[in-house]
Amino acid sequence: MAGYVDSYYARTVLEPGERLPLDAVVDAEVCVIGGGLAGLASALDLAERGRSVVLLERHRVGWGASGRNGGFASPGYPDGMPSLVDRVGLPAAQEMYRLSRGAQDQMRAWIARYAIDCGPLEEGALRCAMAGSRENLQKYCDDMARHFDVEFTHWTAAEIGAALATKAYADGFYNPTTFRLHPLNLARGYARAAEGLGVRIFEQSPALALDLKGPRRTVTTPRGQVRADSVVLAGGGYIGLLHWPVSMATVPVATFVMVTEPLGDRLRQTIAVPYAISDIKTATNYYRPLADSRLMWGGRVLAWEPSADRLARLLRHDMVAFYPGLADVRIEVAWGGMMPYLRHKLPLIGKIADGVWVATGFGGLGLVLTTLAGQLIGAGLAEGDDRWRRFAAFGLPFAGGPLGKIPAQAIYWRHQGEAWLGRHKRA
Ligand SMILES: Cc1cc2nc3c(=O)[nH]c(=O)nc-3n(C[C@H](O)[C@H](O)[C@H](O)COP(=O)(O)OP(=O)(O)OC[C@H]3O[C@@H](n4cnc5c(N)ncnc54)[C@H](O)[C@@H]3O)c2cc1C
Repeated sequence: MAGYVDSYYARTVLEPGERLPLDAVVDAEVCVIGGGLAGLASALDLAERGRSVVLLERHRVGWGASGRNGGFASPGYPDGMPSLVDRVGLPAAQEMYRLSRGAQDQMRAWIARYAIDCGPLEEGALRCAMAGSRENLQKYCDDMARHFDVEFTHWTAAEIGAALATKAYADGFYNPTTFRLHPLNLARGYARAAEGLGVRIFEQSPALALDLKGPRRTVTTPRGQVRADSVVLAGGGYIGLLHWPVSMATVPVATFVMVTEPLGDRLRQTIAVPYAISDIKTATNYYRPLADSRLMWGGRVLAWEPSADRLARLLRHDMVAFYPGLADVRIEVAWGGMMPYLRHKLPLIGKIADGVWVATGFGGLGLVLTTLAGQLIGAGLAEGDDRWRRFAAFGLPFAGGPLGKIPAQAIYWRHQGEAWLGRHKRA
């Protein structure tokens, strides 16, 4: 669809209507920069609390990672709960996990309240350990139940073997908290809901310059200007150099998804369970059967985005390494997107200066955490709620901005190399 990167989602989007660029000087209480899920959830939450909001999007709403992702809506944090416990301690990690579960509830509530057609909503995910790994998944399930009050079910190698036609995995666990959806339809649904509450959304309207001093902040676009009491920076991995501290703390890395042709019965012969599936390793593969019998496959991390043809070849190679029976399958479309990481690998949500709020750093787990950002920013900005402080505390450590991609790529290659060596040593 016009204005979006070619993807399965852009090909199946509902409500394709475009919005006009900003062409005037307008006033609002809040100016949100970025029409991804972080910006849209912030705008929607603020509008529900009666605030006047203008949202500026450089391209189309949901154009970035929010409209291109794997569609796995999972609670938790990018580096996993054990690492979060190490970092912030158990009580804080428990509170943060509860907040992410609450954000999932908010997503479901918004989807129902505003009749957002982003389904089918499909429940459940299977996470699998690689054959030969030393993961103790039974212990992990027990720890999650004890500390986070969530029931993950351990699956033995035999159970995994009966469900998936691959020898790549040892055991795994079933996670009932993950659900899947069409993220571009979700983003466009949030936009429509926000507009219904009075939010003014302008597409093709990049914020080019910020003046954040003084009580009235100004945001300048090519043909207009927004004057607002507060600004929310939600440009994700596409923020560029708009705001030096945020831009220099953000390392945008690319990751990728492809979709096969419809597979008919072959899909269930290969993947006999209707769940989202992912493996436990640094360079995770994640995939899910789609309702129309296609297989969606995602993975890899690179500092740059290869051509769609090359991407399709790379991801097909990964898929066939797991499922050799799919070697002759045609890839219909492959695409990539940028996700921003901060050095601490945690999201940054909250106020960074008077009248300046930020929501970024959701990594590969942003589908739910962006709604959490909207909740915390909305409550913080409109009601003085200070739960955002937990997330703002992680700070904006310098990471080199776009140049930080180079060490990030080196680390990813190192992990890939170690995984490859591990496999070949075991063989
Ligand atoms: C391929 C891929 C697969 C993924 N899979 C999953 C998954 O399955 N589950 C999950 O939870 N997460 C997943 N993620 C991560 C998730 O998509 C992101 O964390 C989340 O969408 C980030 O949302 P955002 O609003 O912060 O950024 P984005 O969605 O990238 O939105 C930022 C927006 O800001 C706009 N913008 C930037 N600068 C300006 C400016 N100066 N003026 C105006 N507009 C501007 C951009 O055009 C863009 O539309 C995946 C990401 C990718 C790339």
